[in-house]
Amino acid sequence: MTSDGPIDSLSLEQATSVLLCRIGEITLKGQNRRQFEIRVMQNLRARLRGLGAFQVDLRDSRIWVRPREGTDPELLGRAAERARTIFGIVSVSPALKWAGPVTPAMIESAAALYMRQLLERRPRTASFKVESRRGDKTFPLTSPRISAACGAAVLAACPELRVDVHRPEVTLYVELRSDLILYHEILPGSRGLPLGSSGRALLLLSGGIDSPVAGYMMASRGLRLEAVYFHTSPFTSDQAREKVLRLAAELSIYTGHLPVHVVDFTPAQLELNEKVPPEMLTVVMRRLMIRVADRLAERRELGALVTGESLGQVASQTLAALACTDVVSERIIFRPLIGLDKDATIEIAREIGTFETSILPYEDCCTIFVHRHPRVHPEIRHAEEAERDLDIETLVATCLEQIELVTMSPDAL
Ligand code: ATP
Ligand code: MG
Repeated sequence: MTSDGPIDSLSLEQATSVLLCRIGEITLKGQNRRQFEIRVMQNLRARLRGLGAFQVDLRDSRIWVRPREGTDPELLGRAAERARTIFGIVSVSPALKWAGPVTPAMIESAAALYMRQLLERRPRTASFKVESRRGDKTFPLTSPRISAACGAAVLAACPELRVDVHRPEVTLYVELRSDLILYHEILPGSRGLPLGSSGRALLLLSGGIDSPVAGYMMASRGLRLEAVYFHTSPFTSDQAREKVLRLAAELSIYTGHLPVHVVDFTPAQLELNEKVPPEMLTVVMRRLMIRVADRLAERRELGALVTGESLGQVASQTLAALACTDVVSERIIFRPLIGLDKDATIEIAREIGTFETSILPYEDCCTIFVHRHPRVHPEIRHAEEAERDLDIETLVATCLEQIELVTMSPDAL
């Protein structure tokens, strides 16, 4: 039962709105764990900066976010959405916190207040249950007894509710550590490893469905990304370029500010069209892109390349064709989609929010310049022969001279 005594009950005014962010990967230990936590916090702070002033702290192996003085607590909802995009965060709960120590009667009063307030926002809620966790083992009540006591207090304060322990519409979570924490939502986060913890890489970003997904997947393993886009204006339109930049902005929700190196590939492409046997054009073009990307990565001190290739998806992605492109890069090429079918990739594209942009109709250079019957199983020596009349070094250098750097951020959306 709730107590109405002034000492033994809590008020909403005494509570602080906070975000509780749980962090993975549970297998990390010791020093690694510490670095992991620091990076997640840094990345979260950077992501919240444009929104308002927030205090971000680590406590009990979780990250706590609270609005600083002058920042509207209502912004915590948007802060939660941003926190969910931070790699390394497993889940996020908007919560109310009462500074401890507290008595059982205080917890009951807080539970009742919390649910009353929730009912005002969601008046049609009919059932609930309470789940409790007790970090402080010296507290006089066990977790099940805290839950039972809170359940009774909620029922007394909200007679329109009933308890349903199997399929409740709302679960009220009560956590007792040094403070009292109440929440009812556990929103899934992006998981993975924090950006920057695995190094840096260059994503070959086209306007298709695959490469944004590939970038997302490698970023989720802790790679900080830059991107390169090869455009062949005027054969490809300005809209094709805008589409790629928009994809970069959409991706930057997860990757943070994303520098995009826009390479003018037209002079090189025209020379290839002239001097390369048509059935070898795709392979030679892809080898040139990889060479340029590799050199750009060297300049920018990026340790790997990332592409959206998937084995067997198109003629340029057979085992033989991939082997032909692999050998021209000094850097490792990550192809995280290599074993995924298109449906699985599309599902991820939808989840991360790039799909709708990817299916806009603007054409890519790969679709304009391909031969109708490209060589499907080229050997490396065939590719080398097809490049015989080309001055590769000069072509690469020309591309590297024609780069425009555009940095994209979620602000562009
Ligand atoms: P996507 O859907 O990512 O465009 P795709 O299935 O259309 O891929 P390709 O167009 O053959 O396949 O490209 C394979 C990969 O090569 C892409 O995923 C991307 O990483 C890279 N790539 C292709 N075209 C470009 C480009 N114009 N600029 C930068 N990277 C590109
Ligand atoms: Mg493509």
